[in-house]
Amino acid sequence: MKLNATSTVAQQFSLMKPKIWLSSPHMSGNEQAYIKEAFDSNWVAPLGPNVNGFEIDLQSYLKEDRYVAALASGTSALHLSLILLGVANGDEVICQSKTFSASAYPIVYQGATPIFVDSERETWNMCPLQLEIAIKDRIAKGKTPKAIIAVHLYGMPYKVDEINQIALKYDIPVIEDSAEALGSNYKGQKCGTFGDFSILSFNGNKIITTSGGGALVTKTLPQKEKAVFLATQARDHAPHYLHSHIGYNYRMSNIIAGIGRGQMTILDSHVAKRRSNHQFYVDAFKDNKNIIFLEEPEGCFSNRWLSCILLDSKSTREGLRLALENENIESRPLWKPMHQQPIFKDAPNYLNGVSDELFEKGLCLPSGSNLTDIERNRIVKAVNTYFNS
Ligand SMILES: *Cc1c(COP(=O)(O)O)cnc(C)c1O
Repeated sequence: MKLNATSTVAQQFSLMKPKIWLSSPHMSGNEQAYIKEAFDSNWVAPLGPNVNGFEIDLQSYLKEDRYVAALASGTSALHLSLILLGVANGDEVICQSKTFSASAYPIVYQGATPIFVDSERETWNMCPLQLEIAIKDRIAKGKTPKAIIAVHLYGMPYKVDEINQIALKYDIPVIEDSAEALGSNYKGQKCGTFGDFSILSFNGNKIITTSGGGALVTKTLPQKEKAVFLATQARDHAPHYLHSHIGYNYRMSNIIAGIGRGQMTILDSHVAKRRSNHQFYVDAFKDNKNIIFLEEPEGCFSNRWLSCILLDSKSTREGLRLALENENIESRPLWKPMHQQPIFKDAPNYLNGVSDELFEKGLCLPSGSNLTDIERNRIVKAVNTYFNS
C-alpha cells in the first residue's frame, strides 16, 4: 500500500469507530430557507428581518413581557449587562464559581473583581448560604457587590427564590446566566426571565445553535434599546458618525439570526430529546451503584442540556473518561471551578467544598439531541465494560 500523509490519516480514521460527540449542532432543515431569504433580499449586512424575527420568536417563547436583543455571543450579552448596571473599575461582582469561564470574564473586561461563591448539592448552582456570607463579608470589608451572576448549570435551574430573596434584601441586581438553560423552567416560569438581566447563548454546542450567537433579555424596552445602541458601535443620532459613548461590535447578523429562526422551530423537541437521553442513562445504569445522577428538585424542570453523572472518586471518573475516549466517545469532567483557575487565583472566594468535589467526581456523557440509539447503546456498553473489567 502506498503511504502518504493523507492516506495514513484516512486509514487511521476508517479503523476507528465513528466519533460520538458530547453535544453537536443539530439542524432542523428550516434554517437554510431563512438564510436564502436573507440572500435573496440582500439583507446580508447586519440587522434585517431575521434579527427582528428571531428576537420576536424568543420573546414569545420566554413570555413574561421581556425584551430580547440578539447579539454576537452570550459573553457579549454578559458584558453589556454589566455595563448597563454601571459596573466599573474597582467594583466587585459576585459570580458562581462552578461555571464556564465566560460567566466571569466580562467582570474583568470592566476592570472589576470577581468574588466567587460555591455551590449547593441540590442543583449544583450558587449556594444561598455562601452567597449571604459573601455579601456580608464584602460589605464589612467596605464594598457592596454591584451584581450577582447566577448560573443554571447544565440546564438545571438554580434556587431562584432563595437567591432573589437575598439579592432583594441587600438590593443587589441579579444577572441570570441562562446560556445552558433555554427550555428549562422554575415553578413553570421559563429560565431566561428571572434576572434583572438574563443572557442566552447559541454557541455550537448549546441546546440550539446559530453557529455562534447570544442574546440579552431585559425587563424594559429602553434597556434593550441601550444594549442595541452599545452593540452597534454607539452611533449617536446624527447624519455624520457622532459618538458620546464607547461602543462595541456585538450585534447578531441577519444571516446568523436566520439560523436561529430555524432552530426555534425545534427547540422544544430538542429539549424532549435531551431529557430522553438523560432518562435513558438513568434507566441503563439504575443497578450500577457507582453512578449517581442529579435529580430534579421540586419545581425545577431541566432541559438536561448535558447528562451528568457522579462517580465515587476522581480515579473512577478519569478511568471512565479514558475508557470512553478509547472507544472514540467524547465525555468531559464537570466544569473546573473558577476559584481553581490560574487566571482567578487571587480573586476572593467563599467555599464549602461542593464544587471541588463535583469537579473531581463528575462526568458529562454525550448528550446531543441528535444521538442515535446505536450511539446510545455503544456508550452504555462502553460504560458497563469499564465497570465489569
Ligand atoms: C456557553 C456559555 C457562556 C458563553 O456563551 P458564548 O455564546 O459562548 O459566548 C456563558 N456562560 C455559560 C454558563 C455558558 O455555558
